[in-house]
Amino acid sequence: TTDATAFRISRTSTPLSPAEREKRMTAPGFGRVLTEHMVSGRWAKGQGWHDLRLSPYGPLEMDPATAALHYGQIVFEGLKAHRLHDGSVGVFRPHAHARRFQRSARRLVMPEMDTGMFVRSLEELVRADRAWVPDQTGHSLYLRPVLYAEEAVLALRPAYEYRFLLMAFVTEGFFNDDLNPVTVWVSTRFARAARGGTGDVKIPGNYAGAFAAQVEAAEHGCHQVVWLDSIERRWVEEMGGMNLFFVHGRGAGTRLTTPPLTGTLLPGVTRDALLTLLPEHGLPVEEVPLAIDDWQELCASGEITEVFACGTAAGVTPVGTVRSAETRWDVADGNAGPVTRRVAELLAAVRHGSLPERHGWMHRV
Ligand code: PMP
Repeated sequence: TTDATAFRISRTSTPLSPAEREKRMTAPGFGRVLTEHMVSGRWAKGQGWHDLRLSPYGPLEMDPATAALHYGQIVFEGLKAHRLHDGSVGVFRPHAHARRFQRSARRLVMPEMDTGMFVRSLEELVRADRAWVPDQTGHSLYLRPVLYAEEAVLALRPAYEYRFLLMAFVTEGFFNDDLNPVTVWVSTRFARAARGGTGDVKIPGNYAGAFAAQVEAAEHGCHQVVWLDSIERRWVEEMGGMNLFFVHGRGAGTRLTTPPLTGTLLPGVTRDALLTLLPEHGLPVEEVPLAIDDWQELCASGEITEVFACGTAAGVTPVGTVRSAETRWDVADGNAGPVTRRVAELLAAVRHGSLPERHGWMHRV
């Protein structure tokens, strides 16, 4: 149990000058420009959550036997705070991210953090580092919660002590806000997730295991990896850190599909938002499996007219060209199409609070 009032706040006594902060916030890239504060908390068996605090950002001291370093009992999340059209700050779908954080923790036999405490942590950090939330469209404050086994023991069992950390960095769009299409590599040599494995939760091992395919993709001139299922090596699952959507047809008959959650792909919060949002705006979406050969064939026949990927970091990214060891094809003319543009605009408008939505997704801080 958590006593919400036990959250200790100690702000930095040496804040950056506004001029220095502005300088760091210009062309921030991704994941480099950390803000001035962090949140930390602890959990121990028999004691539960304790020692929650906001403090100045700084390095950790770590026992070399910290269990997480050895056995990878670590889960994380990624969500964003946006400057809203009225100048206030909103965090996009913190409760959905809290639930996924809980699900990931459960899968690795770790303590769950209740939604209230998760959201409170985000609020405290965003309040302390509010000046770091950018004004520029497309730029935002990325929030990174992580929970790991802190117990200093090399026994091969779930740890009895955990540490929660929350940090934030300034970010521009992950790839681009100009909707430049990416070329994707269909990996047949590597698989991301096995049935019964951990592909549907957000844990570092999934990403470390994917780097080899990412390097392979880059060697073939591709920006991103498209993952196939690991059994039949046939069904399209997801792309790098994003979920995929396929646009079928044009004009009035346009409909979209996205691969179903088979247990081996990450249930994206953006994917979920689009499944709700797009039908509200006249774009029906269905969760339907797509085989890689059909992706190629339906592009050749003209039925698939656009493909895009979506996620917290990048928003919407059009897929222009697909390559594999055997073949390559373009999606339509290889450029971002009108549906992709419309979806990107809708999502940006919802994230920045300029399009009203009735789902309570925007959490103002
Ligand atoms: N798939 C993977 C593997 C991811 O890492 C992410 C980013 N969390 C996504 C999909 C998209 O998820 P979300 O929309 O919640 O950012």
